[in-house]
Amino acid sequence: MDVIRQPGYDTNQRPFMIIWETTQACDLACKHCRAEAQPLHDPNALTTDEGKRLLEQVETFGKPRPLFIFTGGDPFKRADIFDLVRYCSDLGIPAGVSPSGTPLLTRDNLQRLHDAGAKAISLSIDGSSPKRHDEFRRVPRSFGWTTNGWKAAREIGLKVQINTTVSRYNLHDLPNIFKLVAEMGALTWSLFFLVPMGRAQAEDEITPGEYEAVMHFLYDVSKYISAKPTEGHHYKRIVLERTILEEKGLDPEKHVNFHPAYFVLQSDLQRVVQEIGMKKKETIKRTPMHINSGNGFVFVSVRGEVFPSGFLPISGGNVRNETLVDIYRNSQLFKELRDPSLYEGRCGVCEFVGVCGGSRSRAFALTGDPLAEEPFCNYQPCSFPFQEELGNHLAALHV
Ligand code: SF4
Repeated sequence: MDVIRQPGYDTNQRPFMIIWETTQACDLACKHCRAEAQPLHDPNALTTDEGKRLLEQVETFGKPRPLFIFTGGDPFKRADIFDLVRYCSDLGIPAGVSPSGTPLLTRDNLQRLHDAGAKAISLSIDGSSPKRHDEFRRVPRSFGWTTNGWKAAREIGLKVQINTTVSRYNLHDLPNIFKLVAEMGALTWSLFFLVPMGRAQAEDEITPGEYEAVMHFLYDVSKYISAKPTEGHHYKRIVLERTILEEKGLDPEKHVNFHPAYFVLQSDLQRVVQEIGMKKKETIKRTPMHINSGNGFVFVSVRGEVFPSGFLPISGGNVRNETLVDIYRNSQLFKELRDPSLYEGRCGVCEFVGVCGGSRSRAFALTGDPLAEEPFCNYQPCSFPFQEELGNHLAALHV
């Protein structure tokens, strides 16, 4: 298996994943909400017909079809969601849905999604207990609605991805959330590294050193379950570094300057895996995918603006005036984001840039420039001691 997975086609031409913000309406009021969700549906949102025209545009990207995710807000706040999912599936486009943990997350609604052709859902769990999760989501009982929906979805035959937004509120709860994911079962566990936009504040973020600690923890976790980061692109560097150390039979503790938070997370992970009797695999179960904002990834906002990511709110155009295909392939914004030679600061001179590139969203959120260096990666280019071995891996990946 490749250390870093690459889509088997040119991502200048076709995205791997398209996310549509069907609505900003939601009954939760989460502390970190990217969409600044509100109770009411936007009257200027793309209509049912416009949504179907968008799906027809997606079809013209060709095969293999991109994954298409219906997100929100809460997609269940749109009465036409089942119709749209059915239309998507009938076009041969694999559909996933990201509902919120509210009373709308019922077995009946999940069954209707499945019947309409959805393959998977993603649910958010931000704390290992009702108290911790509900505090973050700011609505009592959200934990129970979410875990009940999780169980029902698996029984119905929907794949379930669990998303956890990493912030200073839950840093040390991560091993307990891992335990919940491992016990309940999930297709994958995705750690969302917070980008300060919408309701999320810069002071909610963990530090760059803690990022590094969580990414090493994520690597360890990946030897037990399928796990990945979102907006944590320098995890690809961590995976390459750890892989090379393992290939050379070297103890990472002697070659990596681990942040103290890592040792706490690692020790709690060991406790948890012993409690639930899990066995570690030799290699990680899911290697990270080489895609980034605007490069394999595209987000369509509630009003049809085409962003490189949901966390990078700069528009390359609007699907009401141009096609998604044209915006993705030809807009200056998307072309620049796909050109790492334009990246600035440490990312611009980093040997990992071809597979990593940092979070363009975080660069924009903190500096106003999407091409600036990733502000929360503390790597000094060329400081990894095994450059020859790294060069061999990068050559094999053709980057
Ligand atoms: S400096 Fe930039 S390209 Fe290099 S590892 Fe960090 S985020 Fe990635």
